[in-house]
Amino acid sequence: MTSTEIKALTGQYVMNTYGRFPVAIDHGVGAKLYDPEGREYIDFTSGIGVTDLGYGNEKWVDAITVQAKKLGHVSNLFYTESPAKLAEILCKRTGMSNVFFANGGGEANEGMIKLARKYSFDKYGKGRSTIISLNNSFHGRTMATLTATGQERFHNYFFPFVEGFRFADANSMESLKEVTAAGDVCGVMLELVQGEGGVLPLEKAYVKSVAELCEKNDLLLLIDEVQSGVGRTGSMFTFQQYDILPDVCSFAKGIAGGLPMSGIMANEKCRNVLTPGTHATTFGANPVCAAAGLVVQEILSDEFLQGVQEKGKYLCEQIEALHLPCFGKTRGMGLMIGIEMAEGYSNSDVADKLVAAGLLVLTAGPGMRLLPPLVITKEEMDAGLAIMKKTLA
Ligand SMILES: *Cc1c(COP(=O)(O)O)cnc(C)c1O
Repeated sequence: MTSTEIKALTGQYVMNTYGRFPVAIDHGVGAKLYDPEGREYIDFTSGIGVTDLGYGNEKWVDAITVQAKKLGHVSNLFYTESPAKLAEILCKRTGMSNVFFANGGGEANEGMIKLARKYSFDKYGKGRSTIISLNNSFHGRTMATLTATGQERFHNYFFPFVEGFRFADANSMESLKEVTAAGDVCGVMLELVQGEGGVLPLEKAYVKSVAELCEKNDLLLLIDEVQSGVGRTGSMFTFQQYDILPDVCSFAKGIAGGLPMSGIMANEKCRNVLTPGTHATTFGANPVCAAAGLVVQEILSDEFLQGVQEKGKYLCEQIEALHLPCFGKTRGMGLMIGIEMAEGYSNSDVADKLVAAGLLVLTAGPGMRLLPPLVITKEEMDAGLAIMKKTLA
């Protein structure tokens, strides 16, 4: 099909819930994507932080193919090898204790919320079920995670929202103490780098203090690493750069390099909170997705993750060196990069221009967001930078 035909068919038969760029994608290689007519795009998006190995990675394709031929799905009523192995690797690389696998980020966060409420119920009984999240956060599109998302613009249409959520300001212990004072709180849920909110890393001292407050009051520290996890910021999980061990940590986007998979990891204190019958998902721990996840873990060695930090630094420095009139400062960690807009420029206008010129980028909050494949080469980064220079100078 041609691009025009694909767009027309989508418009007719797929619900119109996405603001799409006017581009159809057919295939990809490394960090390059191609439309059906063969036009090339440099990818600084990874399908919103998902395709950390880029496109067409041979090891990934082979592992998926082999596993699909053996067994595509059997459900969690039986034992399978690849999810067990993936859970082991995740725990050994992070110090967490065990894993529950799900399918998407919002669903993983639902599990994290349920775990926190059950932990508190088991120990203290009713009345201690409130979850604190941060203003400007993003936690998903399900009813509970939408409620937990601390941005007013998401709290529309779908009333009534879920009970038992309150918000604190990022980087303010005063605000957190105020909203936890009533004694009805069971957990504090944070993104260490607010992604959708604009790529805003939390302050290290603040996160340390949050962890201490949680420990002191037996509140669970719930870290949402759906976007920041799995090598994106240059460590397997971002909490490792904050010197904390969460009680529960969710992950999703990059975990299987492009197949739908997510999950939560619990520390030793929380490993037995969810018991048979209290949580489940039919598609969870899919053996094909887990086989893909094993390849991601193999490629994302500690040495490779060091390279992610260096690539991120290079990209930020080179963007700043272009002195583009539309951009302010760059910030971020590893290959999770935010760019502020200069006064009078709109992030969506700039994104439209770049995509039209052959460079795929994202927006977040009021700024730009770059999430290139973690395997991106210097040559591919330079090709993207050249498009930025040509289009925006
Ligand atoms: C993307 C994202 C989610 C939602 O994940 P879905 O897979 O779209 O449900 C939740 N939290 C964070 C931090 C995210 O970036």
